[in-house]
Amino acid sequence: MYDSFGTHRPREVQPGEYPEWDEALALVNRDLSAQLPERDPLCLLALPYWPEEEAEEAGEAEEAGECVHVGLPDGTWHGNDIPRNSRATPADALVAVAEAAQDTVLELLWQVWPVCIEHRLGMHPGKEDGRPVWWCAGGRDPRDTKHVGASIGKVEATYRPRSVRRKERGQRRRSQGQ
Ligand SMILES: [Zn+2]
Repeated sequence: MYDSFGTHRPREVQPGEYPEWDEALALVNRDLSAQLPERDPLCLLALPYWPEEEAEEAGEAEEAGECVHVGLPDGTWHGNDIPRNSRATPADALVAVAEAAQDTVLELLWQVWPVCIEHRLGMHPGKEDGRPVWWCAGGRDPRDTKHVGASIGKVEATYRPRSVRRKERGQRRRSQGQ
């Protein structure tokens, strides 16, 4: 399938094709709606994968298949595909999907997400004792060190952007006037 630019158009992954990543994305989308409720849920997009020639010659190429990315509902995405070996455990899948989701949100929507409620800083996915979490780098005070902001899938709402508040206020007024 080609679009007008001659590049391959991604295919939207259907539920159940990559169940480990489906489950992970559902949790990540929960974090997205907690802090960016105006955004539509992210989805999994697949592209055909061709091993690079050099890797193929060296016998290091992974088998041909698909690259799966976390993208926006309009079929765009940014950054690397989700590493295939992340399907090994639910925790690995969650961290990998969270990373890919964060890249897409930052580069295509220009939004820092998710944000630590305490420090208002962007957090990064990782693990603590094997548990998938969002890490915050901490505040300026040297005693205010790196900490876990939330488990992935359990991010709390921080604040409502002014544009959303204004829209909600407008909707409330309109419904009251009816
Ligand atoms: Zn913090």
